[in-house]
Amino acid sequence: MHLFRYRDGQLYCEDVDLARVAEKFGTPTYVYSAGTILDHYTRLDAALAPLDHLICYAAKANSNRAILKLLADAGAGFDIVSGGELFRVLAAGGDSAKCTFAGVGKSREEIEYALDQRVYSFNVESEAELDYIDRIAGAKKAHAPIALRANPDVESHTHKYISTGSHENKFGIGLDRIAAVYEQAAKMINLEIVGVQMHIGSQITEAAPFAKAIKKLAPVVRELKAKYGIKFFSTGGGMGIIYRRALESGSGQWWHDHGGEPAAFSVRDYADAVMPPLLDLNVRILVEPGRFFVGNGGVLLTRVRYVKKSGAKKFAIVDAGMNDLIRPALYHSYHEIVPVKQSITSTSKGKNKTEKIDIVGPVCESGDFFALDREMPQLHEGDLLAIMSAGAYGFVMASNYNSRPLPAEALVRGDKFGLIRKRQRWEDLVRGEVEAEW
Ligand SMILES: *Cc1c(COP(=O)(O)O)cnc(C)c1O
Repeated sequence: MHLFRYRDGQLYCEDVDLARVAEKFGTPTYVYSAGTILDHYTRLDAALAPLDHLICYAAKANSNRAILKLLADAGAGFDIVSGGELFRVLAAGGDSAKCTFAGVGKSREEIEYALDQRVYSFNVESEAELDYIDRIAGAKKAHAPIALRANPDVESHTHKYISTGSHENKFGIGLDRIAAVYEQAAKMINLEIVGVQMHIGSQITEAAPFAKAIKKLAPVVRELKAKYGIKFFSTGGGMGIIYRRALESGSGQWWHDHGGEPAAFSVRDYADAVMPPLLDLNVRILVEPGRFFVGNGGVLLTRVRYVKKSGAKKFAIVDAGMNDLIRPALYHSYHEIVPVKQSITSTSKGKNKTEKIDIVGPVCESGDFFALDREMPQLHEGDLLAIMSAGAYGFVMASNYNSRPLPAEALVRGDKFGLIRKRQRWEDLVRGEVEAEW
């Protein structure tokens, strides 16, 4: 479910006309729906209610402080992958005792900070890292709570850049070695074994791979509980969202098949599939969704600058670029793109012709596109477009490439909307640059 809908021919986010947001804050601007994000959180939380569970939102998907605060206030913990993310979570009023610290390359500074802030667990991915955390904790006369990330070697049928649960990638420790690495950890006197973790990939739309991986790990969890008294099993994130025909999916029927389109992740199916193998483990269950909470809850507003013809091809050059939203360039990912004013889109009535067009940004790279040969209503200079499902891995991956200031971010709640990040200005681009002191 999401709360982006046409009303009287205008695209609304909750009760706010997106054209008003663009007028007030300019473009490109990310706009997030608080209601959508909280709805996703609440539904997952309710589905997991039969379990002792903790939802740790993966902050890397969207780490704006206002978004973190929204989820912290709803009771969420956080899965963080850097000291910077822990800093943000604390600044947003999040509870460090509900934070798990993941990532394959934690630095000394980050480990010290997380120890000082008493995070719930360090999720560790190698023996070398165990050793490093043990030494740092020892020097601080502290005990570091740790969990190992197990790699269950399950194919998750997603893009290879975001698949993490098969033996061929850098993440986690194989099941053939996991018991031995826990034994190593048990010998390190400054570590306390508190859990086990897995994360099989991202944008997974079926429940089956999660259930399969959980069933593979269940015997390991039992053994670790018996041996070390572990408190938790984190089943990771990776729940997928709708990217194709995202707008229609706001109808509330969004987990059903859309006429042959792949069905998106369903909380109900997920809970039905994972609950049975989890219920009798008698440990706390953690989940770490990122994209699922925020992905469909955000759009990127952009305006058409020029329309250009080149031979048989037509291009709409918009004011957002790959530096603002890199997913199409990086993953060849699909984002639905719709006009904010619907009168230019009523294609079903056959009045307005559609045509194939490339929607591209102003950055000097051929990879700077949002859609290629996309069937769109006729576009004109000044038209306002919404790039749908841009709430996850959107702004957080934005850069200043081509010396373009970072876009603004706005949050909608009911009929209210406000800025949650100011658009950068040119002065911001050179801030921090200094002259070399030879
Ligand atoms: C990225 C990540 C997540 C979140 O992934 P989503 O696909 O956004 O749900 C969860 N856990 C870990 C360890 C991650 O690296």
